[in-house]
Amino acid sequence: MSLDGQYDPDNIFAKILRGELPCVKVYEDEHVLSFMDIFPQAPGHVLVVPREPARNALEMTDGALQAAIVRVKRIARAVKAALAPDGIVLTQFNGAPAGQTVFHVHFHIIPRQDGVPLGAHGGGQADMDVLQDQATRIAAAIETP
Ligand code: AMP
Repeated sequence: MSLDGQYDPDNIFAKILRGELPCVKVYEDEHVLSFMDIFPQAPGHVLVVPREPARNALEMTDGALQAAIVRVKRIARAVKAALAPDGIVLTQFNGAPAGQTVFHVHFHIIPRQDGVPLGAHGGGQADMDVLQDQATRIAAAIETP
């Protein structure tokens, strides 16, 4: 999937946004839904999915993008508070050649520890109890704006 094309309302994140598929939720409001990545590249890997139906960031309205990035920062601060990583990667891929695999725009928040290599993108599935514990701790650390 290149940068051009039609938004598919049956992509997996659209189904999660509609509640048709489950997720391990971290946060939600009128602008975004945030949940744990089930194939984490590092423990505590969180996704932030804007509700606006756009395939990538280039297609988003300015307002939706602004609302989303502010929430990315807020949730990344909670990841820092809850998991005490040494660093945090924020990424967002546009188009398959850039690494995008799910074609509903989303942001990655990936905690990093000194000396621990980043795991594979789309690697092994995480233990659901571990994801739930991380989600609960991150959610509890989200500051009110
Ligand atoms: P991207 O490659 O940037 O499109 O990222 C898609 C991300 O979604 C990958 O990191 C996957 O591990 C993750 N992912 C795919 N399916 C699910 C799912 N059902 N729940 C949570 N994360 C998912």
